[in-house]
Amino acid sequence: MAKIISFSNQKGGVGKTTTCVNLAAALALKGKKVLVVDFDPQSNASSALGIFDKNLKASVYGVMCDEISAEDAIVELEPTGLCLLPSSSDLAGAELELSQIVIGRERVLQEKLAPVVDKFDFVFVDCPPSLGLLTVNALTASDGVVIPIQCEFFALEGLSQMMNTVKLVKKHLNPSIDVTGVVLTMYDGRSKLSRGVLDEIEKFFGDRVFEAKIPRNIRLAEAPSYGKPAALYDKRCAGTLAYDKLAEEFLSRLE
Ligand code: ATP
Ligand code: MG
Repeated sequence: MAKIISFSNQKGGVGKTTTCVNLAAALALKGKKVLVVDFDPQSNASSALGIFDKNLKASVYGVMCDEISAEDAIVELEPTGLCLLPSSSDLAGAELELSQIVIGRERVLQEKLAPVVDKFDFVFVDCPPSLGLLTVNALTASDGVVIPIQCEFFALEGLSQMMNTVKLVKKHLNPSIDVTGVVLTMYDGRSKLSRGVLDEIEKFFGDRVFEAKIPRNIRLAEAPSYGKPAALYDKRCAGTLAYDKLAEEFLSRLE
C-alpha cells in the first residue's frame, strides 16, 4: 500500500515545494515509485519538474472535476520512478467549488486518487500556503504530514493553528493521520538564530524533528528554473546530499 504524505505549512515560502520535489526525487533515485500531486494553484511543483503549462487541461483540477481520470493526467518524469499529477491555475477556483458540495467535500481528492495510489510506494501532496479546503482535502487523503519549517524568527508563528487543523482532521475525518516529521529548511548551523529556532522547534515537536537539516543552498533555488530536481542538476551539491540523507531517515521512519 502506498503511503500518502502531505507537505504542509500555512506559512508561505518555507520550502514545502522544494522539500516535496527533492525528497520525491531522492526516493525515486533509491528505486521507489513516487507520485507528486501538485495541489497548489501556484503550480510551483509542476514548473520545478519541467511542466510549465499553467492552462493544462490534464491537471489535478480536471481530475477533481471528473474531466479526466488521475491515471490519464499523470506524467512520467526523470529520474525513473518519479511521476507528477500537475496543477494548473484554475485549481484556484476549486476551493470555492468544493465549498459548495454539501456532503463529502473534504474527501474528493482521496476518492480521485484511490484508483492510482497502489501503483506507487509514496504519494506526496504539495499543499498551498493556507489551511483551506484544498489542504483539508490533502490531509484527509494522507497517512502523514511532513511540515517544513524555515529557520527564521517567526518560524513558530501559526504552527499551533496548523497543528490544530491536523488535530481536527484526525478527529473528524481521518483518524489515521500523524505528523510524519518536521524538516528544518534553509538551516545554517553556524547562525545563532537557526540554532535558537531549532531549540524551540524541538521543544514543540520532540523527536518528530528530522535529524537531517536542509541547508540554504543556491543550487536548490536554481534547479527549478531548469525544470529539474536538484539531484539531476547538481548531484553533489549540499542541497542534494541533504535531501538524500532526509530520504534515508524518511524511509527508516516509514518502512
Ligand atoms: P509557497 O508557500 O509559496 O508554496 P513553499 O513553502 O513551497 O512556498 P518553496 O517554493 O519551496 O516554498 O521555497 C521558497 C523559495 O525559497 C523558493 O524560491 C526556493 O527556491 C527557495 N528555497 C527553498 N529551500 C531552499 C534552500 N534550502 N536553500 C535555498 N533556497 C531555498
Ligand atoms: Mg509551494
